Amino acid sequence: MSTFSDDILKAALEIADEELRDSEYDVECPFCHKPFSAKEGLNTCPHCNEQVNLNLDIDIE
Ligand SMILES: [Zn+2]
Repeated sequence: MSTFSDDILKAALEIADEELRDSEYDVECPFCHKPFSAKEGLNTCPHCNEQVNLNLDIDIE
């Protein structure tokens, strides 16, 4: 029997994992207060070129 569907599932899981890691979030720059897409970690604001650290572990109260 073919393992075609298993390969599809594995590929889908790898894509999902990849997308999770590369997810972009709409954030507001704390320096110039303009919105931009940031990934987890260190980002550079495209508007003012300040470095913005996006830490997704922060609890929003
Ligand atoms: Zn900015």
